Amino acid sequence: MHIVRLSLTNFRNYSHLELALPHRAVVLRGDNAQGKTNLLEAIYLLATARSHRGAAERELVNWSTPGEGAARIFAAVERGRGGVEVEIAFRGEGFPAPAAHFQKRIRINGIPRRAVDLVGQVNVVLFTCQDIDLIAGSPSLRRRYLDLTNCQIDPRYLRCLQRYNKIILQRNHLLRMIQERRAQADQLDFWDRELAESGAYIILQRRLTVAEIDRLAQPIHRQLAAAEELRIAYVPSIEGEELDSLRHHFEDRLKAVRSREIAYGMSLLGPHRDDLAFVINGVDMNVFGSRGQQRSIALSLKLAEASFIESRTGDHPILLLDDVLSELDAARRCHLLESVASGQQVVITTTDLDRFDTSFLAQAALFEVREGKIEPVRD
Ligand code: ATP
Ligand code: MG
Repeated sequence: MHIVRLSLTNFRNYSHLELALPHRAVVLRGDNAQGKTNLLEAIYLLATARSHRGAAERELVNWSTPGEGAARIFAAVERGRGGVEVEIAFRGEGFPAPAAHFQKRIRINGIPRRAVDLVGQVNVVLFTCQDIDLIAGSPSLRRRYLDLTNCQIDPRYLRCLQRYNKIILQRNHLLRMIQERRAQADQLDFWDRELAESGAYIILQRRLTVAEIDRLAQPIHRQLAAAEELRIAYVPSIEGEELDSLRHHFEDRLKAVRSREIAYGMSLLGPHRDDLAFVINGVDMNVFGSRGQQRSIALSLKLAEASFIESRTGDHPILLLDDVLSELDAARRCHLLESVASGQQVVITTTDLDRFDTSFLAQAALFEVREGKIEPVRD
């Protein structure tokens, strides 16, 4: 799939941007703080309805146009199964607008829709320098990664996740009430069933996704580092191969830890405690990986994710590369640009064009990003 037209209004440091993107390979060159990452963030939002930086939606509205108080992202996207027009509009007064008055509106082909309807309309894979934290950073980043990947392809996953997060809040509240003897322990029975119900689906989908990405990443990583056997393993909080057994197992485990949960006043078990392990030749790379190894794993993971999304949707996702080429050595850089599959759109940001070889640049559309404006570069 690829974006043919992108339009931004009052989004971050853009006021009015109209951009035609007819090419498969798009290179955005710009100095620091000109709006390169902001543009990729806008595209990412169209796919996930969320900011990859985890930014609050109120921060997305251009602060230098406070009177207008609205931001809009629009894209016309061509896909194997037919085109689609996607729009997200944020509205609020002042910067940052008070949360109570802030609204997000989504339109698909001009018709108002919910965020869950965005799932699968536009698919992207984003690769940034921070992705090394997926391997080296805290488990919460890896869970977020699992969620964003699954939410892009599975609306039911998104619904279960939203439900699960709400249940955790309510259940934690109840656990504290029980701890303070203001509620009865048997009130937990209902919430245990609810937690196990949505949690089991999340665990099952995470398991299937990771198994698939692990399979796809092995040959990709072997090409980057011939002597390294990469395995990506899901470390679930609850064991089980299918939905029913997972649910039952989950409920049994909850009963077993109930008194401990009451003592702590919080939910100790479930997908909010899952993790992902990256192992090379039997060694845990989350702990023992060199920076270079962790960077290569992040690259293999992203390329595997792209082919995973393709296998699930039948369409190549749009690849967004935010200033990553400068972090890679020449061989890995070459490998990355070569592995951009034919038919796949790739949008690359950079401060420095020296990182590209001339044959790649010759077939790419080149733009200059400056102070929230984007101009084609002609030679
Ligand atoms: P770098 O090469 O340093 O990564 P970049 O081109 O990727 O730079 P961006 O992250 O896109 O830069 O940010 C561009 C500018 O947008 C920054 O100076 C930032 O302060 C500004 N900015 C961020 N949010 C808003 C907002 N809500 N309104 C206006 N400007 C904003
Ligand atoms: Mg940037």
